Amino acid sequence: MKRFALACILQLGRYAVLPIVALAWGLFVLWLMLLDDYTRAALVTAPLMFCLVTAAVALALGILLLPTRADRSNALDETMAPHLWRIWRELDPAFAKRNRTPRTDAALNASIGETRAYAGIFGQHVTMTVGLPLLMIFDERAVRAVIAHEVAHAELQHISGGANLLDFLRACENVLHYANPDRTVTGRLAEPLLRSLLIWLNSEYSTLSRRDELAADSRAAQWIGQAEMARALTLLAGCTVRLRELVFAPLESDMLGAIRVPATPLQRMSAQRAEIRADDALAAAAATAMTEEKDDPDSTHPPFSKRLANLGYTAIPAIDPVETPAIERLLVPEAARELSARLDAEWRKMAQTWVQVGM
Ligand SMILES: [Zn+2]
Repeated sequence: MKRFALACILQLGRYAVLPIVALAWGLFVLWLMLLDDYTRAALVTAPLMFCLVTAAVALALGILLLPTRADRSNALDETMAPHLWRIWRELDPAFAKRNRTPRTDAALNASIGETRAYAGIFGQHVTMTVGLPLLMIFDERAVRAVIAHEVAHAELQHISGGANLLDFLRACENVLHYANPDRTVTGRLAEPLLRSLLIWLNSEYSTLSRRDELAADSRAAQWIGQAEMARALTLLAGCTVRLRELVFAPLESDMLGAIRVPATPLQRMSAQRAEIRADDALAAAAATAMTEEKDDPDSTHPPFSKRLANLGYTAIPAIDPVETPAIERLLVPEAARELSARLDAEWRKMAQTWVQVGM
């Protein structure tokens, strides 16, 4: 039953609230019909009915009034990243320039998302984020594998499910926007219900997401080969550990008691790029990643060992050395400089408040 409810939400998104709205209206109509014959009982239950109708109206309005979520900041237009566009175009069978936006951020990660305008029905737009650290540390081959994995999520319709789930949750949360839990009975009643719904949906979604990750790896491996996909996963596991050791741990100690904002994570990555990418150290770091990891049921990603096993590897494969950093091939130099400067400025602004709070 729970699986069925989740499947409905993933398919219908915000419109999955309609059966709840219909049920509430059905009860209201029944209540109106009973009003004449059982006036006293109807009047006693009137406050409850009123809450129910308010919540139903809020849910119904929420369907139409959801804002479109679209983070298109730090977008990479085709003049800035011509070769990144080329790779996406080659791998994506449904590629159409007008509804695709690649962008970047400061994370060692990549993701893909979908937005739809017009009450969430038409105007699908796909945004792929490829973190600048990935572009700085990985080579073109590894970035290509990452893009293939993200395109596979889109092709297998995982992102529609994710977008639908978020839409549904936001449509439900809209009830609290119209009925403030601090001031209204409806809000007070809706809040705990909503919270338990959220906890349940989150855990179901983590399970589903881990399954989707393995499916996207397998699909991408069909396009680019299992060895390429396994290489990218190994590099990702190794780089995560290397960045923790060489960038984030020193940054954290520099931040303690700092009165001035220290060098940014991107500046540190850039300064230590050769050490981070050193082949032997990366291979050792990938082994560390595998011994450290545990299978966390709340995580949206399966552990590294499971992802490798899914591709047919029982141990970490020996991988080719990392080649020229992808950023030098996929982005034009001015764009790379400008984006680094912008992300550095954003980080400094945020770090400034930590330093002030720390003081
Ligand atoms: Zn993924």
